This record gives sequence, structure tokens and C-alpha cells, in this order.
Amino acid sequence: MFKKAYVEITNICNLSCDFCHGTRRTPRRLTAAEFDCIMRKLKGHAEYVYFHILGEPLTHPELSRFLSCAAGNGMKCCITTNGTLLAESESVLLNAPRLHRLSVSLHSFEVNDGGDMKKYLDDVCSVCTKLAANGTICALRLWNGGGADRLNGDIIAVLHEKLGCEWQSNRDGFKLGNNLYLENAAKFEWPDMGAPKRNVQFCQGLRDQIGILCDGTVVPCCLDAEGSIALGNIFRQSLDEILNSERAKALYRGFSNRAPAEELCLRCGYAERFSI
Ligand code: SF4
Ligand code: SF4
Repeated sequence: MFKKAYVEITNICNLSCDFCHGTRRTPRRLTAAEFDCIMRKLKGHAEYVYFHILGEPLTHPELSRFLSCAAGNGMKCCITTNGTLLAESESVLLNAPRLHRLSVSLHSFEVNDGGDMKKYLDDVCSVCTKLAANGTICALRLWNGGGADRLNGDIIAVLHEKLGCEWQSNRDGFKLGNNLYLENAAKFEWPDMGAPKRNVQFCQGLRDQIGILCDGTVVPCCLDAEGSIALGNIFRQSLDEILNSERAKALYRGFSNRAPAEELCLRCGYAERFSI
């Protein structure tokens, strides 16, 4: 059983962050029938479904239906969003049956011509406060250490104003209130086939997580933005058939032997943290 299944419901985004890997894949959205197919095949195989690899999930017109479908198949739902469409999506999110976590990438604001920062943060705080009271964990992310972080002080001042000042520090940042967190981290670097090789030995890809791109391509993780490690297609194959393919077995075995089988994995900064 996978802990996390990353299901990219769309690769279309309303922003253009400079730190985003982007993709050469065709822009598309999952249809309702395709999402149902994925949920049927993941049922009993994943605990959490994350509605994201690339793209902005709140742009998908069928999000409400997808959240209900995932919950109906026994999965807890997690959404990662840039936060720009939270006000419009409030009722969909508040009425979702099993929305476990909402992560908001506040670091996307500074790298876009985002307009009115106060209005943006007002919407984020307003929706997240309601969701947190409703039992959803809300994580406000400033994952921009060493990158475009000039506005962090201003953002934090507005958060203090809107959410109070009694914050408790924790491992990732601060607990701002019940179910409400601020997470700090360094600017994220995506693995890329054009990047230099790193000291990668092990990763949880295909162990505790799996990814499904919006054309049905199955990948081992949430970081394979181009589908470089295409293990099969969930629309045409069973999950079992895909996991038992030679490529999937070699990837799993490679990590067991601390010798990654895939070129992309050898260039993955995220996985370097598991190296001895
Ligand atoms: S919000 Fe996310 S998907 Fe959209 S451009 Fe930024 S990093 Fe990429
Ligand atoms: S090493 Fe990186 S690219 Fe490879 S499976 Fe793990 S997270 Fe994905």
C-alpha cells in the first residue's frame, strides 16, 4: 500500500513561477471518467491522494466531484495550491468530505506579477482559518530560502496581523494555531535530465509514493515533471501490471541496492537527503 498517490488532475497553471520545472507535455485536464478510472485502480492501494504534480488543481472545474470520488474510494485528500483561487474555491473545499491537508505555496507570490499582496493573503488567511476550524490541516509555505525571499518579512507581518502573534516554533517553521502552520524551507530544485549527477543512493519513490500524470502516465514520484520515468499508463493497464514491469522492478531493486537505476534519479537533489 502506498502512503501517497500524486494524481495530476491538470498540468495547466494560472501562474508562471521562475522556480517551476514546467513541462513540454501537452496541456490537459483529467476528465471525470479518467479520474474515476484512476480512483478505482488506486482503491485499497493508497492512503492519501495528492491532487498535484504540476499545474494548479483549483483551476479544474470538476474538483468538487473529484474530491467526493476520492473520498468515496476511501482516500484522504491533500491539495497543494498557489492560493490565488482560494476565495472562489472556498465552498468546494469546505464541503469536501475528506480534505485532510491544504498546502499553500506563498512563495509563488513574489515570483509572479501577483498584484495586491494584502488581498491575496487576506483570501489565504480567511479560507485557511475556516478550513482549519473544519479539521483540515493548512500549511502556508515559504519554500524560498536562498531564492526570491525579499517579501517574506512583509508576508509574515501580514500573517501576524491576520492570525495573531502567538506562534510556536516547530521543526518546519511555526504552528500558528489549531491545524494551521507556516513552513519554511530552502528553494526547491526539481530533478532534471540536464542537471549534473549527485550522490543519490535511495528514495521512497515506488515504495511509499507513486505519481500519475494527467495523461495517465504512471511515474514513481511527484518530481518527474516530464514523465521521464514512464512505467506504464493507468488508463490502459492495471496497477499490478505496471508495478510488475521490468522498469518498475529495476527502479525498486536499484534503491534497495543503493544503486539507482534511473538517470533522472541520479540527478535528484531531493533524494540526496537519504544518502549516507
Ligand atoms: S504555481 Fe506551481 S505549477 Fe504553477 S507555475 Fe508555480 S510552481 Fe508551477
Ligand atoms: S530519486 Fe527523485 S526522481 Fe527518482 S523516484 Fe525519487 S524523487 Fe523521483
